[in-house]
Amino acid sequence: MSDSIEKVKCLIIGSGPAGYTAAIYAARANMFPVLYQGAQPGGQLTTTNDVENFPGYPDGITGPEMMIELQRQAERFGTDVRDGWVTKVDFSGDVHKVWIQDTKEIHCETVIISTGASAKYLGLPSEQKYLQLGGGVSACAVCDGFFYRNQEVVIVGAGDSACEEAHYLSKLCKKVTMLVRRDEFRASQIMQARVKNTKNIEILFNTDTEEVLGDGQLVTGVRVRNNVSGEVSEIPATGFFVAIGHKPNTDIFKGFLELDETGYIINIPGTAKTHIDGIFVSGDAADHVYRQAVTAAGTGCMAALDAERYLAAIDSNFEVNTATNY
Ligand code: NDP
Repeated sequence: MSDSIEKVKCLIIGSGPAGYTAAIYAARANMFPVLYQGAQPGGQLTTTNDVENFPGYPDGITGPEMMIELQRQAERFGTDVRDGWVTKVDFSGDVHKVWIQDTKEIHCETVIISTGASAKYLGLPSEQKYLQLGGGVSACAVCDGFFYRNQEVVIVGAGDSACEEAHYLSKLCKKVTMLVRRDEFRASQIMQARVKNTKNIEILFNTDTEEVLGDGQLVTGVRVRNNVSGEVSEIPATGFFVAIGHKPNTDIFKGFLELDETGYIINIPGTAKTHIDGIFVSGDAADHVYRQAVTAAGTGCMAALDAERYLAAIDSNFEVNTATNY
């Protein structure tokens, strides 16, 4: 059952750096954007402590603070930021239809998808506890590795991401222990060689994580079990990095948009356009390579500019607002 149908010029789905940046540009271009925050307002950055690599914050800023600032900036120009999440879409006809929590139906001239991706975690209660506390569990070495300079860390995973992140951490940390659950990597040969040839990376094959150990506030080590010999041991560490893959939040778009085998939305290269007119994508929903706040913000800007030009092309009353965009 639907409430009355609302018509929207520009609907933005998601409230990470991509969504809010799209909103800032769209609002300044008179597109009257409506932004639905989704189930995790602020997105992945709300699970990060300090963000030190976003340009413009020389002293760093916490992830949650940055997201509040971005929301304020989007609202300052008139973005209608709303609670709620999209449960269904229909992009098959001329009108792009979106449903909020299965009830409210919105008809959109343009849609900017900024639903992001979610890092996968092992799901251990101890891992989740120290993740929530900000006490030493992270799914992003590039974001958080710096805080573990000259310390010992553990990373779990055996794909290209795990190898890349282990190598990144090896340049900052005293020692990196890599936990690989099988007797071989999944990563490409070149990435495997890189970690195998790095002196301060120790690789433990056939090794499962049993528990992330800590003092109640901070991580102090990891208890692991060799799944062949059954031997249990403890590795001292102040950081526990999880690099077992990401899942893009794109399930609701299946059947309408082109997705790759992992579910990332395929955009037209060099643009934020999808293969459907009027539907644009920004941020991690289409990016399995960079996954940074600043790249997400950049593609959010691209999506708003592409949407603005699309509107100008289909509606002679809508003018590209060059004064505010550039
Ligand atoms: P992948 O899916 O390739 O690898 C995930 C890894 O995590 C696998 O080795 C898997 O183990 C392991 N894993 C999954 N669940 C668990 C668990 N519960 N416990 C322990 N280990 C677990 O993800 P990536 O993020 O590494 O890569 C995603 C894509 O991005 C790939 O196509 C990759 O090639 C690409 N990529 C490319 C890069 C580059 O070229 N520079 C850099 C980063 C990513 P198992 O092998 O046993 O299943």
